[in-house]
Amino acid sequence: MPKELAGPLHQRGGAPWVRSSATIYVGGGLERPHVKIFHVPDCLFCGIAAGDIPATVVSSSARTVAFRDIDPQAPVHVLVITREHHANLAELAAAGDGLLAEVIEQAQEVAAREGVAEGHRVVFNTGPDGGQTVGHVHAHVLGGRPMHWPPG
Ligand code: AMP
Ligand code: ZN
Repeated sequence: MPKELAGPLHQRGGAPWVRSSATIYVGGGLERPHVKIFHVPDCLFCGIAAGDIPATVVSSSARTVAFRDIDPQAPVHVLVITREHHANLAELAAAGDGLLAEVIEQAQEVAAREGVAEGHRVVFNTGPDGGQTVGHVHAHVLGGRPMHWPPG
């Protein structure tokens, strides 16, 4: 990559099409361009991923963090997030790179570690009608009590 294209966009004058001051990295060659937003200011879960906002972290990997929900809806209620910012499941799926699979793997690891591997629920609430209140993708891992169907 030419030197003038290396590094975060915000360190080279910013990107005019980006409205927030998110840190943007451009990687890959011209044949495979992609843009990743790693950290969105004022995003609660970006803050937790960065360690700026406290959370009870139960496990983490290079690209994911799992922490206890602050308002648990079951004896086990852990959220799995990506370290880089994706607004919802559709954006995470579109990101490729096996990141969605890694979130699911981490959710399964959490379920096993919490002793609910044989009975639990993994949920991605999406959008207002889906009950999503935090705009940074997260998988809820719920267990430790019987789950009802249909959900409310
Ligand atoms: P959702 O409503 O699906 O977007 O889920 C957001 C979840 O984040 C809710 O279950 C909240 O209880 C949880 N939550 C909000 N703030 C925090 C926080 N600071 N630490 C841990 N969990 C949080
Ligand atoms: Zn975020």
